[in-house]
Amino acid sequence: MKAILTDVTKCIGCFECVTACKTSHNLSNDVPRKWHRNDGLSAQNWSSIVQRPDNHYVRKQCRHCLEPACVSVCPVAALITTNTGAIIYDPDKCIGCRYCMIACPFGIPRYDWEEPVPYIRKCDFCHDRTTRGLQPACTEACPNGATIFGERDELLSEAHRRIAAEPDKYLDTVFGEHEMGGTAVLYISDIDLGFLSYPARRETPALPETTHLAMSAVPPTFIGMGALMGGLYWFCKRRDALAGKDKDKS
Ligand code: SF4
Ligand code: SF4
Ligand code: SF4
Repeated sequence: MKAILTDVTKCIGCFECVTACKTSHNLSNDVPRKWHRNDGLSAQNWSSIVQRPDNHYVRKQCRHCLEPACVSVCPVAALITTNTGAIIYDPDKCIGCRYCMIACPFGIPRYDWEEPVPYIRKCDFCHDRTTRGLQPACTEACPNGATIFGERDELLSEAHRRIAAEPDKYLDTVFGEHEMGGTAVLYISDIDLGFLSYPARRETPALPETTHLAMSAVPPTFIGMGALMGGLYWFCKRRDALAGKDKDKS
């Protein structure tokens, strides 16, 4: 399984990774909109740099969860887990329900409100590049080795090696190793990165354990609604038929 390791202590905030992502995916410049959140992500920005106090710069992108909540809630399987670890999206299947936006514990998927038929947009882990043996555009562009690509187990070892070598420099945690069931985008840092996830959802179990409960209630709800609407239709037809008979008698 592939992964990205970002070392926050090495990031200089140059935005080369952001620009490379946009160029690689043909994403246009953003028009500022009031519905944009202040993390820099949008339908046209699949990765961003969040500035934190004391000149800390933190990359933000889809974390490509090992047990992705977005995949578990999608009722039409428009979000798919691939064998490289990339969570990719099929716009032909998407019905625009936006359950994935609500379910994602990292607030990643964005709706493309600018399009007549809007779709979900997010980092796709450069799936078309990685399946051709290339690394993602963002990691290739980083001039400082702050964000690197490789096998997840090797990057985890590298992350722990750096922490052990400089324990005074790094927090003793690899963000994404266990968080939300584990993610393919990992971080090491000298500042807490809890702000990257919703505060109420920082627990480590994978969310699909809970979203499955909610989603399993959807089919019975649809069947119940169908039965209710069918009943109403039958009642209205019957009422109209009886009203017609009464009119014939008079
Ligand atoms: S970070 Fe959000 S959008 Fe990305 S795989 Fe995880 S749940 Fe899905
Ligand atoms: S992996 Fe690809 S799509 Fe994702 S942030 Fe990097 S360049 Fe963008
Ligand atoms: S290209 Fe590298 S150093 Fe520049 S902002 Fe991105 S991660 Fe940081």
